[in-house]
Amino acid sequence: MSSAPPPPSGPQGSPASQALPKSLEPLESLAPRLPSPLSEAADEHFSRHGVRLLLKRDDLIHPDLVGNKWRKLVPNLRAAARAGEHTLLTFGGAYSNHLRATAAAGRLLGLSTIGVVRGEELAGRPLNDSLARCAADGMRLHFVTRADYRRRNDPEWTAALRERFGPFHLIPEGGSNAEAVRGAAELGRELRGAADVVAVACGTGGTLAGLAAGLADGQRAIGFAALRGGFLAGEVERLQQAAFGGRRGAWTVEDRFHCGGFARTTDALESFARGFAARHGLPGLDRVYVAKTLYGLAALAGEGAFPRGTAVAAVVTG
Ligand SMILES: *Cc1c(COP(=O)(O)O)cnc(C)c1O
Repeated sequence: MSSAPPPPSGPQGSPASQALPKSLEPLESLAPRLPSPLSEAADEHFSRHGVRLLLKRDDLIHPDLVGNKWRKLVPNLRAAARAGEHTLLTFGGAYSNHLRATAAAGRLLGLSTIGVVRGEELAGRPLNDSLARCAADGMRLHFVTRADYRRRNDPEWTAALRERFGPFHLIPEGGSNAEAVRGAAELGRELRGAADVVAVACGTGGTLAGLAAGLADGQRAIGFAALRGGFLAGEVERLQQAAFGGRRGAWTVEDRFHCGGFARTTDALESFARGFAARHGLPGLDRVYVAKTLYGLAALAGEGAFPRGTAVAAVVTG
């Protein structure tokens, strides 16, 4: 084992250590729009079933640290600062919004970032737009084979990454860990009293795990899986266990609306998304996550899943 140099931190226990760590002062100047706006969206797909639709605009929190990525990343940035770590290392696929948000955080806060990217074959090729933005923000990209990527939670493998890159603050894939889940609980608290049902898109399930925990009694959350695989409910349980010591809030998972899997689409989804974006002035409506959630939610309303008079808030996570 190599020993890491001691972190450059101030004197412990002094009054100054109560203040915001120096490396996070810029975080306060990023001026996030919080609580994020909540707006009514009159829409035939819902109103004809007697359901009110609201949009929780987390996509407006910050232009670079968008949506649920703000809520999950900021607590991790604070944890890194408390630990005196100036380098963040995290994991993602070639189109990961989480990698982009982490890279942007690095640029904005003056931290080094390393992105471990799934797919060694990408190493020699021109970067796609998403990875090019990561690189432009100063992220060091490290491409690994799919077999290695599967070991991303294996301490032996991450120890090898420390040998290679030196000390870093590790943030798991999608940014979902206990800190992130506790950060996402604030989304639920912002929605108390505002809706009966809250719908959110799920990748890793970290946002749903926190959201459900933050809601009031009598409110419930539905997570719409954007990936296929049926693993989501187990992950949400695990994340709530890690963050809160047990299951919290009322939540369920919908596995029927991934439309073929991550970043896949169907004609029906695309035409719904185009119509919704036009009706509600959302030209950049995210297809990978948010459109599937709205599409699934409209389908549930059509199936009579919500009693007339139900208010449903859909989280625009990005
Ligand atoms: C990352 C992301 C999600 C998935 O969030 P999880 O916490 O991983 O479930 C949902 N929507 C958008 C827009 C995202 O970028």
